[in-house]
Amino acid sequence: MLKRLVERDLYDLLGRIADSYRLRVPGLLDDGTRTLLPWDGQQISLFGEPPQRKPTAYFFPQTDPLLKIDPRGQATSAAVAEKPFALFGLDSIDLAALAFTDRFFSNPPPDDHYLRRRNGALLIGLTGYAGPSREFLPLVKGNCDLELIACGEYWLARAGCKSADHWLAHYPHGDQEQLAVLQRESAQWNHWAAVAVQQAMELLQQDLVPDSFWEEIASRCILCSGCNLACPTCTCFCVQDRQTATGTVRSRVWDSCQLDAFMREASGHNPLGTEALRTRRRIYHKLVADPERWGEPGCVLCGRCDRACPTGIGMFAVTKEIVSRFAISSPD
Ligand code: SF4
Ligand code: SF4
Repeated sequence: MLKRLVERDLYDLLGRIADSYRLRVPGLLDDGTRTLLPWDGQQISLFGEPPQRKPTAYFFPQTDPLLKIDPRGQATSAAVAEKPFALFGLDSIDLAALAFTDRFFSNPPPDDHYLRRRNGALLIGLTGYAGPSREFLPLVKGNCDLELIACGEYWLARAGCKSADHWLAHYPHGDQEQLAVLQRESAQWNHWAAVAVQQAMELLQQDLVPDSFWEEIASRCILCSGCNLACPTCTCFCVQDRQTATGTVRSRVWDSCQLDAFMREASGHNPLGTEALRTRRRIYHKLVADPERWGEPGCVLCGRCDRACPTGIGMFAVTKEIVSRFAISSPD
């Protein structure tokens, strides 16, 4: 099903979705960046840079209360009944990150806390001419429920699954030929960092990057943990207990593999006891361990860690440096 929506239709569609979901839409902040804001029926930012806040945070929040434990030691679930989220404005990269994280948390034993929020949620892609300065963003590859493809003054809309068809039922039909043109443009689209990340991955897999490189990179790290906290495919967490007036709340809280305590054991032994080992692990996990386990890298090329890192050692920067120093020929 392919439909054609003008702006009035788009707002009508989102308004109907907001009746059943906690709808988040892209909004412009005072500093010019964008984020997903609660829908209020007002102006939406329909093109621009991707929001820095990772979309996985809606289903795996930074602090996630799991249990309440009363003074007698009785534990009850801390989960509260909430309307499901509908996220509008996701590009193909963020949808790939969500698909990666879905698979991680669905892998046996499934993670009930993630899936409780994720299973009823509606993911709505925003692609086509919706990038910074209306640059082209490639169409999605089946990771969403609905996709809105920006075409200037209107959007082509298609349902990603049969159960989402009804949202689009009463809008006029879109032009299939135009969709085919956009699909061809998507097939030719390449992420500017993809070649360097791929080459660095191969060098790491062949063990061609010496330990001294990681010592050098790690010496630039100030342990702020921004890279991990921004990354939509990072899923590590630790558990914290917080005393309240009525007992204890046990929560899981995002962790960071750049921090000394990340793998430190109760005995004091730490298998990642140096910053060099932890920095190597941050990159190695995405580019070597994840491909071995899942058949694809854990980096979806979103660029958030490079934007977050105050000392310039995010994924793109590090892989570019690996390629320029250890590959026989550099990508550019
Ligand atoms: S670019 Fe950085 S933040 Fe984005 S997926 Fe890759 S490692 Fe994570
Ligand atoms: S964002 Fe940069 S400085 Fe901060 S922990 Fe990550 S690598 Fe280190």
